Amino acid sequence: MGTDQNSNSAHYLPLPSKFPAIDYHNHLDAQEPREVLKIMDQCGIERVVNITMLTGDSALQMIRKYHAAAPNRFATYGWMDWSDVGSSGFFRRTVERLERLVEHGACGMKIWKDLGTTVRDKAGTLLRIDDDRLDPLYEKAAELGVPIMYHIADPDAFFLPIDANNERYEELAAHPEWSYYGSYYGKLELLAQRDRVIARHPRTTFVGAHVAEHPEDLAYVGKVLDSHSNFHVDISARTAELGRQPYAAREFFLKYPDRILFGTDLIPDVNMYRLHYRFLETADEYFEYPSHASRQGRWNIYGLFLPDDVLRKVYRHNALRLLPRR
Ligand SMILES: [Zn+2]
Repeated sequence: MGTDQNSNSAHYLPLPSKFPAIDYHNHLDAQEPREVLKIMDQCGIERVVNITMLTGDSALQMIRKYHAAAPNRFATYGWMDWSDVGSSGFFRRTVERLERLVEHGACGMKIWKDLGTTVRDKAGTLLRIDDDRLDPLYEKAAELGVPIMYHIADPDAFFLPIDANNERYEELAAHPEWSYYGSYYGKLELLAQRDRVIARHPRTTFVGAHVAEHPEDLAYVGKVLDSHSNFHVDISARTAELGRQPYAAREFFLKYPDRILFGTDLIPDVNMYRLHYRFLETADEYFEYPSHASRQGRWNIYGLFLPDDVLRKVYRHNALRLLPRR
């Protein structure tokens, strides 16, 4: 033991998680349920929320596929279908589609960053996130008791040129389509539009994916949480951002233990989950963050050594509150 305990050796990474966990943000459309279950069992993952990226009948089939494999181990989020945004009756149909998804077992619906950047209405006008024609959709979500998850905007670096000065150069070079450089709305404007929707629909539960897209400024995220009790955030794909500011991040978790959801947004894998547990549970210093292959930036992270009551809420209890009881 001795010095090895402080090394980055995978041998000492926690497994399974200290308490059962629900991965509230993942994408399993391309995975095989049996294979995912094996990893879940090894890692202490009680349930995974699959945010399907399919729409229409294919989405319903995906719900059935995971439900058939293990009804208590998976849940499915639907995906906003913009395919016919240019034809009349679209906004009414979005409400009907949400109803249909929930009837078939969906536990929420995700609205992605194409809203605010590329989605245009019948007249050819870029849709704003706070476009009031979407209001009936949010009210329907409240009525059905399912949350709306937003992934709008992204890390600050995605709004900057992809060049040698960009701290996420490798990631953006690998995924140039993730860049917002030159987008019509700047990041803060996109967030402000989202926040207005959350304010306008207090009965609707909203989840801000990726620490509400603004982990760079946890004071901002804290203000949104303070102002809107219907708002929650997940930490998926943002341990790199949280873990390089461990003092602010730990304080954030201690202040909002009931509002933060564990989620990963990464292909289920033993080492991926272990790195999350290491980040949340240990006081280890300067280690690798969980990431997709192209990495997020050239830095490492620090563990938050969260207390047990906070871990229990973030890992599981907060997600259970948002998942429909059936
Ligand atoms: Zn995602």
